[in-house]
Amino acid sequence: MLIDVKPLYSEIKNSIMDRMSKLKKVPKLVAVTYKPDPSTISYLKSQEKAAKRFGLDYEIFEASNSSEVLEKLRNLSEDKSVNGIFVTHPLPELDEMLVFENLSPEKDIEGRHPYNLGMLMYGNEFFAPCTAEAVVKILENVTEITGKNVVIIGRSTTVGKPLATMLLRRDRSATVTVCHTKTKNLAEITRNADIIVAAAGKAGLVTKEMVNADSIVIDVGINVVDGKIVGDVKEEVSEIAKVTPVPGGVGRITTALLMEHVVKSAEKMNF
Ligand code: NAD
Repeated sequence: MLIDVKPLYSEIKNSIMDRMSKLKKVPKLVAVTYKPDPSTISYLKSQEKAAKRFGLDYEIFEASNSSEVLEKLRNLSEDKSVNGIFVTHPLPELDEMLVFENLSPEKDIEGRHPYNLGMLMYGNEFFAPCTAEAVVKILENVTEITGKNVVIIGRSTTVGKPLATMLLRRDRSATVTVCHTKTKNLAEITRNADIIVAAAGKAGLVTKEMVNADSIVIDVGINVVDGKIVGDVKEEVSEIAKVTPVPGGVGRITTALLMEHVVKSAEKMNF
C-alpha cells in the first residue's frame, strides 16, 4: 500500500498561506550556486516553481568564482529583505565549513548550519534539516512513534543522523538503529523494524524479503534509473507494507517545509 502524503502537504500549504496573509511583506528566498551541474540546475528550476506556487519571492544567484559565493552569503545574511538562503551543495572549491562561517544560521532554512544542528541535539532547534523533518511529519501523520523500532538506512548529516536525533527526542521516544555501508546483516536488522527509513541513495536496496508485513517504509531515496526517478525501495515492498511513493512522497513534504522555514524566518524578522 502506498502512503498518500497529499493531505499532509495540503495541511502544510494551508498553514503557510494563512501565516503569509498575516505578514506585511512577501517573504524572500535566495538560492546561491556556483558551477551548477545539470541536476543542480534542474533542482533549482523545480525549487523556483515551488516558491512561485507558495507565493514567495525567489531569486537564484550564480557566482562566477568561489570568493564571490562567500561575499554573497555575507551580504544576504545581513540583507533585511531576505528571509532564507539556500546554498546548493557540494560547492566546488569550497569547504563546507567555510560556507557555514559566512552564512547566518538565522537564514539557514535547510537546517544544515552547525549552530542549527547543535540546537537540534538539545531538542531546541529553530530550523531542523528539512528532509529529516519531512520524515518525522509523515510518520507522525500515519502512526504512533513512541516505543517503535525504527531502522534508518543511511547516516548522512542531512538525513540519517539528524533524523535519528529527532526520533530519539523524549516526546517521540523511538528506539533507533542507524545502518550504513559497513552494517552487517542489514536484512536481519530491517526485518525486526516497525519502521524503516531508506536514505541510502541506492535504487532498489530495500526488497520484500527485508521487510516485515505491516511495517511502515519511508523512502527518502532519489535515484535516476533509465531516465526515471526511483527511490531506494523496490516497488514490490508496497505489496506487504505501507510505503511512501517516489516521486511525490518525502520530496513533496521536504519542499513544503523548506518554504515553511522561509515564512518562519519572515515571522521572526517581523516582516
Ligand atoms: P549520502 O550519500 O550523503 O548518504 C548515504 C548514506 O547511505 C551513507 O551514510 C551510506 O553509508 C549509506 N549507504 C549507502 N549505501 C548503502 C548500503 N548499500 N547499505 C547501507 N547503507 C548504505 O546521501 P544523502 O544526502 O543522505 O541522501 C540519501 C538519498 O536521499 C539520496 O538518494 C538523495 O538523493 C535522497 N534525498 C532525498 C531528499 C528528499 O527530499 N526526498 C532530500 C535529500 C536527499
